[in-house]
Formats: sequence, structure tokens, C-alpha cells
Amino acid sequence: MCIIFSFLIRRVVDLIKLSKRQEEILQIVKDEGPIPGNQIAEKLSLTRATLRPDLAILTMVGNLEARPRVGYYYKGPELDQLTDWFSNHYVHQYMANPIVIKKSVSVYDAIVQIFLMDVGTLYAVNQNGHLAGVISRKDLLRASIGNRNLQELPVNVIMTRMPNVITIKPEATLLEAARKMIDYHIDSLPVVQEIDAEEHIFQVVGRVTKTTITRAFIEMGSH
Ligand code: ADP
Repeated sequence: MCIIFSFLIRRVVDLIKLSKRQEEILQIVKDEGPIPGNQIAEKLSLTRATLRPDLAILTMVGNLEARPRVGYYYKGPELDQLTDWFSNHYVHQYMANPIVIKKSVSVYDAIVQIFLMDVGTLYAVNQNGHLAGVISRKDLLRASIGNRNLQELPVNVIMTRMPNVITIKPEATLLEAARKMIDYHIDSLPVVQEIDAEEHIFQVVGRVTKTTITRAFIEMGSH
């Protein structure tokens, strides 16, 4: 499942993050397609072999389609709709409830919570209820290896702590959320309201995960 999530998210993000050369190829195909690969290469003063990986990527993510003996043609409009859709739907419309624990609870209790609530990540808060850290499955596994006293060990010690937690605001777009998860190699983002950004004081109001993005992707497909 994780592979599918990553593929879907990467597909959305890839639509935005084309290289300069890939942009040039798209422009040529938009203007002159259908056009054979060797003619695209000629226009860019490159060999066909140099261009092959770019053409493969653009075909794989769906920007271009290749027709035998005809060449490449642009499949843009549908994909423009895809990026538009993710840029016009917002985190607050799709976020789930955050699963929050106190930063003083034990690693043992955090493991129990992660199973009970059926989530991959917990958010830890301080005594004022403000975001203090993030605890993922891997953090808990790491802490469990060779550590017999999980009931005594507070999550505070093993979590990723503020100000290193990557957050997102409710009014951000789903595209921004997807991009953050891909760029930082993380599975979830706490959705936060700023109380004092300079002091890194945030209230957790939601949770966006790769599943959120996948659900939105499926919803978009059903429209
Ligand atoms: P998993 O542990 O299941 O691979 P992640 O990929 O989300 O889940 O977590 C990998 C690491 O990144 C963990 O150490 C976790 O604490 C940290 N992490 C997870 N989410 C965030 C976040 N929003 N901001 C900063 N670090 C995070």
C-alpha cells in the first residue's frame, strides 16, 4: 500500500517538478507534436539516447504519449486539471483528527495508542496543549530495540521535537501538503494554527497523511 501512496503522491508532485530539459521537450511537443523522438533530439541539439530517460519519465507520468511510427504527442489538458484540482483543494477540507498524546507518556503507552487508534504517527503536546513533537512507527520501533524499560521511557526522549517538526496550515493546498511529505520523506503532517510562530507555539488542529492525499486523488477521479 505504501508503494501505491508514494506513487500517487509522487505523480502529483512530479507534474510540478519537471526539469528544464523536460519543460523544453513538452514545449516542443505541444507546438509541433506529434513529433518523433529523433526530431525532438535534433531541436535540442542532443542525441536520441541522451533524451531517452526524459521521454520515458514524461511518458510514464502521463505528460506525453508515444504512438508507434507517429511520435510523441502532448496529453496535457487532463494533467493540468489534476494539478489545478490539487491546487484548489485545501488541507482543512480533507484533514483527519489528530491523535495527540502528552509528551510525558511512556513509549509503551504510545505503542498501545498507535495500535488502538490505527494510525502511523502520534503528535505529542506539552503541558499547555501545544505541539511538542512527532512520534512515528519507526521512532517507536527504534526505541523498542534493546530497551526493556518502555514503561519508564517518556516519548519526549525519542520523538522528533519542535522546532524540527514540519507542519502545515489548514488553508494550505493539498498540493503543498503532498510536496512537503515528499520533500521531507515523512508520512504525515500535523495541521496547526499559529499561536506564536517565532516562539514555535502551535495548536494542533488536524492531521494530513499520505492516505489523505490518496483519498483526495480517488475523489478527484470520481468527479
Ligand atoms: P515511519 O516511521 O513509519 O517511516 P515517517 O516516515 O513519517 O514514518 O517518519 C520518519 C521520521 O520522520 C521519524 O523519525 C519521525 O519522527 C519523523 N517525522 C515524521 N513526521 C514528521 C514531521 N511532520 N516533521 C518532522 N519529522 C517528522
